[in-house]
Amino acid sequence: MIPVTRPFSPPIAEYQEYLKGIWQRNWYTNNGPLVNELELQLKQYLKIKHLLYLGNGTIAIQIALKALELEGEIITTPFSYVATTSSIVWEGMRPVFVDIDPETFNIDPKKIEASITDKTTGILATHCFGNPCDIKAIAEIAQRHDLKVIYDAAHCFGTNFEGKSIFHYGDISTTSLHATKLFHTIEGGAVFTENPETLRKMAYMRNFGHAGPETFQGLGINGKNSEFHAAMGLCNLKYIDDILQSRKNQAAYYQQYLSKPEIKMQKIQEGSVYNHAYFPIVLENEAMALNIKKNLEKIEVFPRRYFFPSLSSLNYVGQIATPISDDIASRILCLPMFFELSEVEQHMIVRRILRALKYQ
Ligand SMILES: *Cc1c(COP(=O)(O)O)cnc(C)c1O
Repeated sequence: MIPVTRPFSPPIAEYQEYLKGIWQRNWYTNNGPLVNELELQLKQYLKIKHLLYLGNGTIAIQIALKALELEGEIITTPFSYVATTSSIVWEGMRPVFVDIDPETFNIDPKKIEASITDKTTGILATHCFGNPCDIKAIAEIAQRHDLKVIYDAAHCFGTNFEGKSIFHYGDISTTSLHATKLFHTIEGGAVFTENPETLRKMAYMRNFGHAGPETFQGLGINGKNSEFHAAMGLCNLKYIDDILQSRKNQAAYYQQYLSKPEIKMQKIQEGSVYNHAYFPIVLENEAMALNIKKNLEKIEVFPRRYFFPSLSSLNYVGQIATPISDDIASRILCLPMFFELSEVEQHMIVRRILRALKYQ
């Protein structure tokens, strides 16, 4: 069975070493030494000044929305994982969908201004599949209309834009370190900001608002993560360059054999070093996509329709037409990509796709 992704597993002995330490210290959670060590190593690896390690990528978005005191309407993308939209609604705001660019699959900045009203306070955009948004255009619009920008960078570990980690950009960037992501800590997430005041706020928000054992700085929630999760991150971080390299090789393989007129691939933003977190292909129509999916499933290969359905069709959001997102969602497939995927397996996948398209 070949799933769309499989979590990276470090050698078990390396994880067990960390477990011994956790047992000896008897310190399981609440900002322990491994959480601190992971934060430090991540800052070094990403060359980034500030970050906070959190329980997951969804609480990261929720804390970001709260820390920037957003309310009313949030401009967002309909083409993302559901957590991008659901977090906005969960925090009592209204998602206002702006359609995507059909080449990059990211929010189309040319369409943002038409959706801004006097209730708009922020933009929450996803760097879809790890591909950077049009960061400059979005920053200009935000400045002109005095809006905050949050990037859902859940897919982005390892992506750089103009020489810096993608996590540098926006008032806040959030990420997910869930087991299905390229770099993971089983469950996990993080927020990034360059603003010291925003950082301070998110730090107390992550820990119930505590300033000290008996004092509170303000409203908070449980956004913490544990020593066990941090330990997995410390193990996996040692292999991150191998993980990124294997993704790059796998993407090159798919690209080489699947460059056909019926298959459209994602256009990567200029100025970026892409992490190849996913390998989406867009077919000419939904029937063709479903036929390929069915053919692959016959040989126990399970691509996924990321992101179908388009989030503008959720039953708890207002009706906003996003025809491009709906169209891409209907005919996209993400092909298997994970550390242990072999060339033999990729060969089999490619052959089956080409056969379904009558090339072989
Ligand atoms: C995975 C993901 C999330 C949620 O992250 P969790 O760590 O699973 O809570 C949010 N946004 C996007 C785009 C994602 O892919």
